[in-house]
Amino acid sequence: MSTSPAPRPRTDLRTMPRYVPGRPAVGDPLYKLSSNENPYPPLPSVTDAVRAELDQFNRYPDPASTRLVTELATTLGVPAEHIVPGTGSVGVTKDLVRATAGEGDEVLYAWRSFEAYPLITWAAGAASVQVPLRDEAHDLDAMADAVTARTRLVFVCNPNNPTGTVVCRAALERFLDRVPQDVLVVFDEAYREFVQDPEVPDGMALHLGRPNVAVLRTFSKAYGLARLRVGYAVAHPPVAEALRAIAVPFGVSGPAQAAAVASLAAGPELAERVRAVTGERRRVCDALRGSGWTVPPSEANFLWLRLGEATEAFTAACEDEGLMVRPYPREGVRVTVGEPAANDRFLKVAEGWRDSGARA
Ligand code: PMP
Repeated sequence: MSTSPAPRPRTDLRTMPRYVPGRPAVGDPLYKLSSNENPYPPLPSVTDAVRAELDQFNRYPDPASTRLVTELATTLGVPAEHIVPGTGSVGVTKDLVRATAGEGDEVLYAWRSFEAYPLITWAAGAASVQVPLRDEAHDLDAMADAVTARTRLVFVCNPNNPTGTVVCRAALERFLDRVPQDVLVVFDEAYREFVQDPEVPDGMALHLGRPNVAVLRTFSKAYGLARLRVGYAVAHPPVAEALRAIAVPFGVSGPAQAAAVASLAAGPELAERVRAVTGERRRVCDALRGSGWTVPPSEANFLWLRLGEATEAFTAACEDEGLMVRPYPREGVRVTVGEPAANDRFLKVAEGWRDSGARA
């Protein structure tokens, strides 16, 4: 056995929380309902924009994503200097935490929520404070109670991944009034485009009126650009400047910038697709409830089934039918709303599960 010295990763990496990606599609025929992706293929106008980038791979992209930032500022009605694109919104999330929290600081969020929060917090050297969901939704009063002098950042995932539940305007305003001004509150609105409930506030409006509010959005979900990795933060200048300072240089690729700009220009076509998904969301949710399932109201492109100990068995039943869903061991299953044929197949499995007497 060699005893020669060798570079070694930090030993505490062994304790780091891990990101579990949605299971890949295997077998045939099959549907991937495990990563909250858009089931529709890219729009021709978007693939054309990406194709136009192909003969420039030898050059770095625009490091400031200038065109994208300008178009987003117009679309969102916020100043361009507030917008910071990154490698998916998870890339910007990582930078937000790194820019605001470190050793001795706390990052607060509901749990269960987006599973990147604990690992990003861990990597920044900060401590996670997790406040349990109540009735599958954020418990904002308990979260405000959990803020301490060490809290630097609070995530509010709206709609929440994986439960799909939302927090509404009045409760959010009340919460923001209780959080100290020097704590950054980050609304993770990865699924904002699927929200239909008028009581759910647009994070942009809250951001404009409150210097300690930032918003995260992505092109991965409603815009269908998951593989290109582009999202953004909207934050007031001190935070936005810090994000630009610590971002990976040239992080957002040229094809990703071009596709995002083309997608913003295709708003009505994409809105049509979002309407198809929300229509299917309603149909699947109604059918599940009709066959005895308890399904929390979802404003996202997925539904949550709390299965407890039956999670693994239900996941296996889905996989047997060529359906990849996202299990959270001993908690439940998140299923993405897909194309109608995928949803039909999922309903068949879920209804059969109830009929067979299995407990949800
Ligand atoms: N936030 C939430 C709540 C998410 O569910 C996801 C994707 N699963 C993201 C952020 C990150 O998306 P992306 O990095 O693809 O933009």
